[in-house]
Amino acid sequence: MRRNYTEEVAHLLKRQFFEWDTVRENYEKLSQASTRTLKLGVSSIIMQFNPGRIHSTTANIEPESIAKRPCFLCDKNQPALQDAVMWEGRYKIQVNPYPIFRQHLTISAVEHTPQTIYGRFADMLLLAQDLKDYVVFYNGPQCGASAPDHMHFQAGRLKELPFCSELPGMTIYVIDSGLGCHFGFVTSLFRPLFYINTPSLEQASMQFDDLIGVLPLKDGHSEPMINILCWYQYNTWHVAVVPRSKHRPSCYDSGERQFLVSPAAAELGGLWALAREEDYNKITVPDVADIYSDVCLSAAEVNLIANKLNNYYHFKTLTHYGTSSSSESGHNERTLN
Ligand SMILES: [Zn+2]
Repeated sequence: MRRNYTEEVAHLLKRQFFEWDTVRENYEKLSQASTRTLKLGVSSIIMQFNPGRIHSTTANIEPESIAKRPCFLCDKNQPALQDAVMWEGRYKIQVNPYPIFRQHLTISAVEHTPQTIYGRFADMLLLAQDLKDYVVFYNGPQCGASAPDHMHFQAGRLKELPFCSELPGMTIYVIDSGLGCHFGFVTSLFRPLFYINTPSLEQASMQFDDLIGVLPLKDGHSEPMINILCWYQYNTWHVAVVPRSKHRPSCYDSGERQFLVSPAAAELGGLWALAREEDYNKITVPDVADIYSDVCLSAAEVNLIANKLNNYYHFKTLTHYGTSSSSESGHNERTLN
């Protein structure tokens, strides 16, 4: 019988709150943190004033400074009180001591090995399946991962990330569609993204491999710049892949309109942890839209990438099913319910 990881993790959280002062204090602070919700089109964006996040927002991820610091995900550098639930002997699921979510997990590889999604995507799907009511997310090494030298995912409760309930209702431009499987892109949430929705692990992995094969790869990078959010509901995987154009927005270090934000998967999912009170007080809907468009690819760029895949799938659909339909733009528009 498969282990009940959701239950084991619930016990881990309780145990760590009880045993470890840092965790208890930081989660108590979070439960009292000020929040306000902005409405960006149909999308809710929760702003959270969270001074505890200053270190991760301003983390220096230059290889030289990474090499100098002790890795906080390696056993030998972790506090004795930091406990874990082992997943398949390959990842340790731990309580994140500096939370954004009221239940915030870090899921790190047991070995010290660079952050990469290559060879890890199926793990992400299976983790999402095992962690019921959680969204598992991945920040690429140049897209917000605070330890680019140590492979890790994170997870937070689904209900805390507005995006997870918004995305399945959005209009998707279909690239490939089969029995209960949908692969397409969404442009209506101000952060153009690819969306895979399928009950099949093989299908999800195949579509992800095809996608990552056509995403732009920058010089000197080990993989395309992406954030991924993945959750499993009603026997179906939902995967959002958000391609990025840059790590930090221009406003990160620009005078008057400066915001100390370093958007990663949580922010793309609609939960922004702002470490400085002045940013929390002054940020507006247009600022959020500007920051998203600054760090994400544009709808036109995502459309061009989709066209490469669409031609491929158009061919595949004809081969496999003998039929195919496409609109003038080359994509079929539909709303998933
Ligand atoms: Zn490490």
